[in-house]
Amino acid sequence: MRFGYSETCLDHDTGPRHPETADRLRAIRRGLAKRHGVEYVDAPPADKSTVAAVHDADYVDEFESFCAGGGGNWDPDTVAVEASWDAALTSAGIAEWAARSALDGATGRDTPFSLGRPPGHHAVEDDAMGFCFFNNAAVAAQAVIDDGLAERVAIFDWDVHHGNGTQDIFYDREDVFYASIHEDGLYPGTGEVEETGAGDAEGTNLNVPLRAGAGDADYALSFDEAIGPAVERFDPDLFIVSAGFDAHRHDPISRMRVSTEGYAMLTERVRDVCENTDAALSFVLEGGYGLDTLSEGVAIVHETFDGRLAMSPDEDPDQKNAELVDTVRDVHGLGSK
Ligand SMILES: [Zn+2]
Repeated sequence: MRFGYSETCLDHDTGPRHPETADRLRAIRRGLAKRHGVEYVDAPPADKSTVAAVHDADYVDEFESFCAGGGGNWDPDTVAVEASWDAALTSAGIAEWAARSALDGATGRDTPFSLGRPPGHHAVEDDAMGFCFFNNAAVAAQAVIDDGLAERVAIFDWDVHHGNGTQDIFYDREDVFYASIHEDGLYPGTGEVEETGAGDAEGTNLNVPLRAGAGDADYALSFDEAIGPAVERFDPDLFIVSAGFDAHRHDPISRMRVSTEGYAMLTERVRDVCENTDAALSFVLEGGYGLDTLSEGVAIVHETFDGRLAMSPDEDPDQKNAELVDTVRDVHGLGSK
């Protein structure tokens, strides 16, 4: 894969006791160092106006002043220093690079993956939250739509947390489809099945809130029976994966049981849907707080594009989760199984 990466993102210093640290990117780089065919691209920061295409201009100014004044705690979880402004613009810029590069034809072994931080999917239109300041995937999606490079963008968020920010930003938009698999009841508490989009955008927002303890088979079922068919029906020009790795069974902050192999399995499924719909494909890093599982997760996505075949889940889906997926199919008019 081609990884968007910038040293600028290391300067966003969240302090010694925070799970979202620069060590996450260092661990990913170490994990990729042993792999074949890894390429790094140093992408430029996003323009402030590009960020303000999805965020409230007053909020963007406020965050800029906050950083210029030395930063601090924006909220109890969300911390910035002076360098966080440049890091946040760069994190958004790398995601934008990945989207543009995918639409420019980068595919297969050249598939782009942006390794930026701070992460983005909790950032709403006019506020930072959950370690996120700018919604990197949303900035990227909007930038390519505004430039006429894509008419329709699908974002699939496999981070263990619901991407409330991405959902909010595009909730009334017919041209952006947002789908999430997340742990029910976890931060930030949004992401119910009934949240399906507003007005004419009804049906362009799809949530699968799986029960704590869900594993590879539950994720495979959610994708095969709900997200995959819904994305194929939506028929995007660009498919962005909001790729967090905190649903891993050894991640310290969730109770899900996805294995490293599970991320390969999801990657293959995403790639197949993109082939079926002729959509460009890019990845954007979100969460993932176990340094080993995070680096293994990114590496196995890379290896999947380097020719490695994923194994099938070795257990059956949980019955309650299967019923939930049936409900999602029903709510989204995908028919009953
Ligand atoms: Zn997360």
